Amino acid sequence: RLYNEVIELKGNIRVFCRCRPLSQEELSSGSSSVVEFDPAQESELRIICSDSSKKQFKFDHFFGPQDSQEAVFAKTSPVVTSVLDGFNVCIFAYGQTGTGKTFTMQGTHENRGVNYRTLEEVFRMTNERSTTLRYELFVSMLEVYNEKIRDLLVENSDQPQKKLEIKQTAEGTQEVPGLVEARVYSTDEVWAQLNVGSQNRAVGSTNANELSSRSHSLLRVTVRGENFVNGQKTKSYLWLVDLAGSERVGRTEVDGERLKESQFINKSLSALGDVIHALASKTSHIPYRNSKLTHLLQSSLGGDCKTLMFVQISPSSADVGETLCSLNFASRVR
Ligand code: ADP
Ligand code: MG
Repeated sequence: RLYNEVIELKGNIRVFCRCRPLSQEELSSGSSSVVEFDPAQESELRIICSDSSKKQFKFDHFFGPQDSQEAVFAKTSPVVTSVLDGFNVCIFAYGQTGTGKTFTMQGTHENRGVNYRTLEEVFRMTNERSTTLRYELFVSMLEVYNEKIRDLLVENSDQPQKKLEIKQTAEGTQEVPGLVEARVYSTDEVWAQLNVGSQNRAVGSTNANELSSRSHSLLRVTVRGENFVNGQKTKSYLWLVDLAGSERVGRTEVDGERLKESQFINKSLSALGDVIHALASKTSHIPYRNSKLTHLLQSSLGGDCKTLMFVQISPSSADVGETLCSLNFASRVR
């Protein structure tokens, strides 16, 4: 290890559940909350199903509608800072569109999310360790839409891009040759890069919000560390992933394009579920190659890598079907 501070994590895969508050519209349309939890019981929740039966779920932690971004990050930071010790880390936000995936990861200007807080913490810790270690940080931003990878940090992103492919290196890790890696020295620079990425993301789409719910958005932080006492060097990745919406679309509601999109989303989300499930159950064959998403993340999922999944849910009675689907998905990977 680069640094002799050992962060205690129970296993390498953890699942947090987060429930957003009922929105103004939900309140005024008479929706009620179907999520029950006891604030003293930090990891359990119950869902009141449409037949009034209750179903209980248990995760590593449950965050209710009152829990702040600070509270969420307090539980997240041990996972993210292990990237500075040379571990690869993946953090995912999974759930139906409108449940707070982007709120948790990106957040808003007043309520910064995991991405920003992570970078802030990483910069803070690199300064703290600067007497024995030297770090270089880089960010990349990409999107996976219909099983195609798009670089969000290239200039002229409205021009047709050279196709990005995943290549295996001699060491057996996966790389994306040609992907922009922007060197960053401060959180302000990271913020500027994130804005470039978000603007590029919106280019070419009539409704950026809608598109964002149908593609996976990935922020990759590359950390190169060198211990100048013992000469040890490391390179590790931290992936912050805002997944496409997990909602099922009815065949009748959609045109051909939308159906194709939703099939790609289903395929990649179930591939992700399969990979994490296989890792958690210590199966020898891990099916990384079944989707671009899992293939891209192959060297950052499994082994001694750290994985954290936020399962985002809506409290509304109108969404109970999707909520149960998401919770079942998450119970399977835990
Ligand atoms: P998603 O990315 O899953 O589609 P969003 O992050 O866009 O969902 O969230 C939908 C709406 O709910 C946004 O207006 C967001 O600000 C709000 N929201 C989500 N989670 C929370 C929360 N924990 N507290 C307050 N507002 C939230
Ligand atoms: Mg979103």
